[in-house]
Amino acid sequence: MGKPLVVVFSGAGMSTDSGIPDYRGPQGLWRREPGAEKLVTYEYYMEDREVRRRSWLMRAEIAALDARPNAAHVAVAELERSGTPVRVVTQNVDGLHQLAGMPERKVSELHGTARAVVCTRCLVRSPMAETLDRVAAGEPDPACLNCGGILKAGTVMFGERLDPEVLAQAMAVAKGCEVFIAVGSTLQVQPAASLAGIAAEHGARLIIVNAEETPYDPLADEVIREPIGTALPKLLDRLQDVQV
Ligand code: ZN
Repeated sequence: MGKPLVVVFSGAGMSTDSGIPDYRGPQGLWRREPGAEKLVTYEYYMEDREVRRRSWLMRAEIAALDARPNAAHVAVAELERSGTPVRVVTQNVDGLHQLAGMPERKVSELHGTARAVVCTRCLVRSPMAETLDRVAAGEPDPACLNCGGILKAGTVMFGERLDPEVLAQAMAVAKGCEVFIAVGSTLQVQPAASLAGIAAEHGARLIIVNAEETPYDPLADEVIREPIGTALPKLLDRLQDVQV
């Protein structure tokens, strides 16, 4: 008997209570402004200075939201602190799981992070805040201070592949866990979404917490439609005493 390995797989819905809009959702930025998709498409970004200028302004706008972890992020970090082995696999780039107290090494960010900037030439990484300070000070498209290359957010853009190491890590925990909780994700973006199926195939208890239906609902042991901010803390509290 021991504590089960719990994987929390989180999507955009996890962070809406933190004030971060779901950019791809029905009211999302990408639908309101069709040209906005270019700002996060690698090819356009690399080719066009104007796209980069607008992209940095968008990053500044998101950073200004100053999003804080919500009750759901805090509940996940608390479960980990209570001694239950927890791994987070997230589609979000906001870093809120770590801000809530999840150790960095236990979080796999499938789509990268908006808290860092990476040089597309020398791959040097630096904090997002430093680059945004340069934008605010009048550099519309700041170049890498190390090599002069084009800088971009540490997020995975359209047209870029996921980091194979991060994906392999996520696959391994999906295969090895006893409980897989998919939170606030429509489970439609591949290959990330198929992790739920992999977990279920390998015998994990699959729990889905999402307002809308997902393609994996029929596979799930439990589907919860309640708002994430109340549902997840309750669910994780219940898991604290589970032994396998
Ligand atoms: Zn560089």
